[in-house]
Amino acid sequence: MNESLDIYHLVDRLSVAIVVFKLTDSKSRDFDIVMANDANLEVCGVDMKQFVGKDLRTSFPGIYELGFPEKYYECLKKNEEIEVGEFEFSYKDHAMRSYILKATPLSSDHVMITYEYISELKKVKSELTQKNKDLKEKNSSLEEFAYIASHDLQQPLNTINGFVGIFKSKYLDLLDETGLKCLNYIEEASNRLRNMILGILEHSRLGTNIVVTTVDLNETLDDIVKDLQGIITKKEGEVRIGNLPKVEGCAIGLRLLFQNLIENGLKYQKDNNKPIIDISFEEKEGAYLFHVKDNGIGIQEEHKDKIFQVFQRLHTDETIYKGSGLGLANCQKIVQLCGGKLWVESVYGEGSTFSFTLPKK
Ligand code: ADP
Repeated sequence: MNESLDIYHLVDRLSVAIVVFKLTDSKSRDFDIVMANDANLEVCGVDMKQFVGKDLRTSFPGIYELGFPEKYYECLKKNEEIEVGEFEFSYKDHAMRSYILKATPLSSDHVMITYEYISELKKVKSELTQKNKDLKEKNSSLEEFAYIASHDLQQPLNTINGFVGIFKSKYLDLLDETGLKCLNYIEEASNRLRNMILGILEHSRLGTNIVVTTVDLNETLDDIVKDLQGIITKKEGEVRIGNLPKVEGCAIGLRLLFQNLIENGLKYQKDNNKPIIDISFEEKEGAYLFHVKDNGIGIQEEHKDKIFQVFQRLHTDETIYKGSGLGLANCQKIVQLCGGKLWVESVYGEGSTFSFTLPKK
């Protein structure tokens, strides 16, 4: 036989650990070890070749306590590959290692066992779980900090506003034009600051007190359109809504999400353009995919990520487009809390489509 085609040689070159057992007694599930490749030593730390020709029960009695031979037998009976299970194993004074075992039938009484080494995978998985936990804790303490800070910041702000009020009512006559202008600037700035603080408070509170119920989004959208009717009529706009599903979620959060997106669609329009907002959804495997499409001013490619950040506004001229810069950050947080994703696609100058997924519970 040609040396290079020697099947045993070939199996020995494989990096996966393989052992072949032969059923010798179906009642007692006794097997003989008939073949093993070199990889066993590398993968499991055991030179399985030294057990070839011996029986499984006396060589590895512990295997019977784990019930594995029963699975090997089941594999032969069913004549199909089965996953035997995950197990930890340490040979002699070697460190504990984790494996996934699979049994594949080779004939009516020969079964091949493969060992997949998963210790590294498990280690990485547990590190990842820990990192995720740490991140969640850091995030929640950051939110707590934002809440406390914004709550406490209101106090000095109230004092400033109070004194501006006193100044205006008692000392107005003493001020010249410049003095009055300065006072008005202080008042405007402190009002803006108040709105920002209230915005941070609201943003940090999102996600607390979540009550999950079945939410009929048709009703949610009906309510939103009723509330926005004033602005829709004023702009001669139209909000087109397809038949929407019922979802499991937080009614308040979902309302805020749709409302913010629709309000933005109505707001970010060219002068005298009649806004048309289309709301639709697609059913995907495991999730609903929603779209809120507008015919507004659109968003440039380089700004597509920035707009979801806190206080990031593309329009700083309050006389054209008023806003706090928190709407989309809130939407992003709501969708993330639901386990979904939010993104935007846009043709600058023609319109934008905000899309988000909500996983089915
Ligand atoms: P706000 O509307 O209060 O400024 P948002 O967080 O809702 O805050 O939006 C952030 C920025 O993203 C807005 O300032 C605006 O520049 C841009 N933007 C949001 N929605 C749209 C939209 N539908 N079309 C065009 N630009 C938008």
